[in-house]
Amino acid sequence: MDVFELITVQSVPQAVKAQARATTAQQGANIRFIAGGTNLADMKLNVERPAQLVDISQLPLAQIEETADGGMKLGALARNADVATHAAVQAKYPVLSQALLAGASPQIRNMATVGGNLLQKTRCMYYRDTAADCNKRNPGSGCAAIAGDNRMLAILGASEHCIATNPSDQNVALMALEARVHIEGVKGAKDIPIGEFYLVPGSTPQRETVLEPGDLITYVSLPPPAAAARGAYLKLRDRASYEFALASAAVVMRQGTGGSIDFVRVALGGVGTKPWRSPEAERALLGKPPSAANLQAAAEAALRQAHPQSENAFKVELAKRCLVHALRQVSQA
Ligand SMILES: Cc1cc2nc3c(=O)[nH]c(=O)nc-3n(C[C@H](O)[C@H](O)[C@H](O)COP(=O)(O)OP(=O)(O)OC[C@H]3O[C@@H](n4cnc5c(N)ncnc54)[C@H](O)[C@@H]3O)c2cc1C
Repeated sequence: MDVFELITVQSVPQAVKAQARATTAQQGANIRFIAGGTNLADMKLNVERPAQLVDISQLPLAQIEETADGGMKLGALARNADVATHAAVQAKYPVLSQALLAGASPQIRNMATVGGNLLQKTRCMYYRDTAADCNKRNPGSGCAAIAGDNRMLAILGASEHCIATNPSDQNVALMALEARVHIEGVKGAKDIPIGEFYLVPGSTPQRETVLEPGDLITYVSLPPPAAAARGAYLKLRDRASYEFALASAAVVMRQGTGGSIDFVRVALGGVGTKPWRSPEAERALLGKPPSAANLQAAAEAALRQAHPQSENAFKVELAKRCLVHALRQVSQA
């Protein structure tokens, strides 16, 4: 591990200023914020080698509160465990509570923060192995995963330069909930719909988000839940806990009088290079009853653009079954 300088900050403007001097906010940043530290330290600071870490853990950004419009505000430093078990989150956004509880372990959830989770790095083993070629870690070096062990990797949104999967559970639920990411930066405050926050790898897999140097995530806002909608998160993985998704589905759905679906949001995890919203599945369901045939048609639509690699074709079928199962959970006969 390289020696790094730890910078403690007392306010949001100080934090923004300290990180604004970074060369980039993307892979290879020489100055990084550190919150819970479970992702940054997990990489032993070898994959990323920041010279300076800006410790934001003492900033007053841990609030979890309901807003006047009926939505919620989740501070960037709110712990995953506290969000998951918050009574209002469980009542209004069960899909988010379930997604968080499906992630990591109780110990890690006690440290992990909303902001850190938004930016957690891929678990692609070639990204984490500094001896391997990886365009995300070392642009232009190639992608060892494409001809390598790619069982866990992406089937949606990949490119010839990168097939790394976004590993988060939280962010799949946030996609289905149409969250907004609020940022304080050198030019002031801005907020970004989560659907525009992540980038697909294309020819620049080292760029994962739209963040610029100095951009500090301050909170995530959730719009008021659709009245009477039901939500669920289903995660399929190799073992029952402490494991990343092979496929997951976050769904929010409501049936109107007569039983037809009049509100639906679908997002998939474990299969995309970013948390994957599926407007195709939503279009296939809207206005129809949740019959077995209609749920299956939605799953087919969600995975139509899938491009499996040598070892992960099974994920296409797995993701379809995962989505059908999750939709069935929120359907009313
Ligand atoms: C063994 C293990 C198993 C895990 N299993 C799962 C799992 O099953 N599902 C899952 O979803 N996750 C899993 N995780 C990942 C875990 O959820 C993340 O490590 C955690 O959410 C990161 O939060 P943090 O606060 O510790 O981030 P940190 O490590 O502090 O930071 C992560 C990144 O975010 C940046 N950052 C942090 N806060 C901000 C901010 N406010 N503004 C701008 N940038 C910021 C940092 O600069 C850094 O680049 C696992 C982790 C481990 C170690």
